Amino acid sequence: MIRPVAWLHAFEHRLVLRRLAQGHEPNGLRVLLFHQLYASRAEADAATGLPFEAFTVDQLAEVIRSLQQAGYSFVGPEAPLAGRQVLLTFDDGYASVLRALPVCEHYQVPLMLSITTHALASGNAFWWDVSYRQLRRAGRSHAQAMGEVNRRKTHPPRTHTPPQTPLDRPLTVAELQSLAAHRLVSLANHTHTHPLLTGLSDSALIDELNACTERLER
Ligand SMILES: [Zn+2]
Repeated sequence: MIRPVAWLHAFEHRLVLRRLAQGHEPNGLRVLLFHQLYASRAEADAATGLPFEAFTVDQLAEVIRSLQQAGYSFVGPEAPLAGRQVLLTFDDGYASVLRALPVCEHYQVPLMLSITTHALASGNAFWWDVSYRQLRRAGRSHAQAMGEVNRRKTHPPRTHTPPQTPLDRPLTVAELQSLAAHRLVSLANHTHTHPLLTGLSDSALIDELNACTERLER
């Protein structure tokens, strides 16, 4: 049974951890999903791309430590279901995921990277960060910009904008290859251009998944 934990934001992570640490949580797999990983709160606050959970390296370590102390085991995607388990995943393939690896090594925790491949080879920023930043600079509120980015997911724009900061850069192919060779790391298909899958025809959906798989296998 897969029990996704409520969207885990940095500001509420202690509440979620407290709930998970209660003795009466049932067996099953919880999937913890992250995107960017910041070195500090100041760095998270200064980021201008699409805001995600805004976790720092220290907070990730706290999440892992607390759940291990509460009796959860961290597993990779292939592990058979047994007891209370957690799968740690990072979406999209931001370069800042490199910061998660030393934490995972320290606590011996598997790490699944769900990679969207369109920006990987080009080194350009992810289109949703480019869109969000442009919309905010044009005076849209956070909610308006998020709504517009979600609408654009029906037909993801083909942006070719270089990263603005080291944080909105995707992993390079060499970085991804070295991560993929690590014994704690596994890769997963996260589509090629990250469209809204429910809005795609069957053939477009298959194309998106195949394009991603093809590039990951290279
Ligand atoms: Zn994603």
